[in-house]
Amino acid sequence: PPLYKQRYQFIKDLVIKYKPKKVADLGCADCTLLWMLKFCKCIEVLAGLDIRENVMKEKMHRLSPLPADYLQPSERSLTVTLHHGSVAHKDPCMLGFDLVSCIELIEHLEAAELEKFPEVVFGFMAPAMVVISTPNSEFNPLLPGVTLFRHSDHKFEWDRAQFQTAATSYNYTVEFTGLGTPPPGTEDVGFCTQIGVFVRKYPKNGETVNSEKHTEHAYKTHFSVYT
Ligand code: SAM
Repeated sequence: PPLYKQRYQFIKDLVIKYKPKKVADLGCADCTLLWMLKFCKCIEVLAGLDIRENVMKEKMHRLSPLPADYLQPSERSLTVTLHHGSVAHKDPCMLGFDLVSCIELIEHLEAAELEKFPEVVFGFMAPAMVVISTPNSEFNPLLPGVTLFRHSDHKFEWDRAQFQTAATSYNYTVEFTGLGTPPPGTEDVGFCTQIGVFVRKYPKNGETVNSEKHTEHAYKTHFSVYT
């Protein structure tokens, strides 16, 4: 399968393995990953966040309950919410999640947004697990036609050392992996997509949760469906 599908599947596999109840996808674009995750029965709350409202709303009807959901109501309840806003801002709607995914998001952030990102995601949201994926620039010479970056909207692309240095953080342990193996003989460039899987070291930091819950809302909630 193409790499973008492998990235979605990577998250789905983690969901199947760890059974998180509350999952948020940051930079959810057209909500394809959220749509895939809605079929995971362990999930009770799904949230998406993106700065581009139109892209997010394009196919959001897919997240609505299916006729079968009404005909055969299941034991579990699922709440899906889409928020319009930036990962550079804190909003209490993102508190209390078990898993937060950021797939091919960070390389689209302006320097000022990128600077705020760790404090928002690891410091404020502080979910049990965070998954971040981003291009590995060491792989670029193997991609035909790529001169500077893989996409014109990318603000940067990091090699493995740059990502791993940036990804030290806030009471989380991190393991690095990736998707898209290089052809034989070029293995030393690493994966095409690099991935960091971050696991919170301490169960819950009560102090942070209590003091910061009073943050004002920064996102606009657009779509909310309950099944
Ligand atoms: N995660 C999806 C995927 O893997 O297919 C989409 C990745 S797309 C390359 C990056 C997404 O991040 C875009 O939908 C873009 O609008 C969103 N984005 C960029 N800057 C953002 C920000 N500051 N806050 C939230 N989303 C942002």
